[in-house]
Amino acid sequence: MPPNSILAVHLAGAALFLSACGDSMNQGTPPWERSLDDVRAEVELVRAGKDLTPESWPGGARVAVALSFDFDAETNALRDGQDSPGEHSRGEYAARVAVPRILALLEKHAVPASFFVPAVTALLHPAEVEAILAPGVHEIGMHGWIHERNSLLSEETERELMRRSYETLAEVMGKPPVGIRTPSWDFSPSTLKLIRELGLLYDSSLMADDRPYELKENGQPTGVVELPVEWLLDDYPYFGFSRFDAIRPHITPGEVLEIWAAEFDVAYLEGTMFLLTMHPKYIGHRSRMVMLEELIQYMRGHEGVWFATHEEIARYVAPGLEG
Ligand code: ZN
Repeated sequence: MPPNSILAVHLAGAALFLSACGDSMNQGTPPWERSLDDVRAEVELVRAGKDLTPESWPGGARVAVALSFDFDAETNALRDGQDSPGEHSRGEYAARVAVPRILALLEKHAVPASFFVPAVTALLHPAEVEAILAPGVHEIGMHGWIHERNSLLSEETERELMRRSYETLAEVMGKPPVGIRTPSWDFSPSTLKLIRELGLLYDSSLMADDRPYELKENGQPTGVVELPVEWLLDDYPYFGFSRFDAIRPHITPGEVLEIWAAEFDVAYLEGTMFLLTMHPKYIGHRSRMVMLEELIQYMRGHEGVWFATHEEIARYVAPGLEG
């Protein structure tokens, strides 16, 4: 793509972003002129409710470890309108090299994981989806249709894409998905409502705690489990790379291992949950897979660590829900 097309894509994205912000900012009312009731109503739309950490995890385990892989493949570039075969080859790497490498590592250490897969990825890469499902221990959850940004969509379009991705995964898997990670963790004011319409068990896109919690909508418990994420516990900020802006790796896999191991140590002491978000296209490279194996071995070296899919964790904590 020539540089001026890239600029056009960026400007179009910025314009969409600004118009979306404008829509959600009370039609231009300066934020300091909003009433406190109005501000409160906005932040109370989606909030953290009850902490769902159980008394103990299965088998008396002290901590639950949830490894997840967002198998975006080409969808980020497709979503952004990039038509470069060069960029698409990075997405292809995720399917061709990284997913098989990740599955081999998980099998070697008997670790189940959750894969969040945009429907378009599932349709472009059916063999890899089959390989994920073949051992019968991993989960596939929703991750949008084509990695769309929910907060830029009307409620109607967001609903349509969520339904389409739900139905596509149900067909591919032979059973419906039970959880979602919104693409780019982008959660619109309508997203929780739509999650409830689909009757999903859990979401894993928000950041109000380190522990599993129940989502509240307008102050009321919803019966939806949140398994929270965090940038610190995502491979993208450490390993992401974009040629045309400042996104690039600045630290080594060893330093990332140090951060993630320290996060695990405290989760272990607290008796709660350690959840990682990774992406085959970033974590699936050789040096990083060495680091991920070291982390798994480090966690395996502790007594009472329950490795589980997001679905298993959500089902285990669900009896504590109020909604
Ligand atoms: Zn993603």
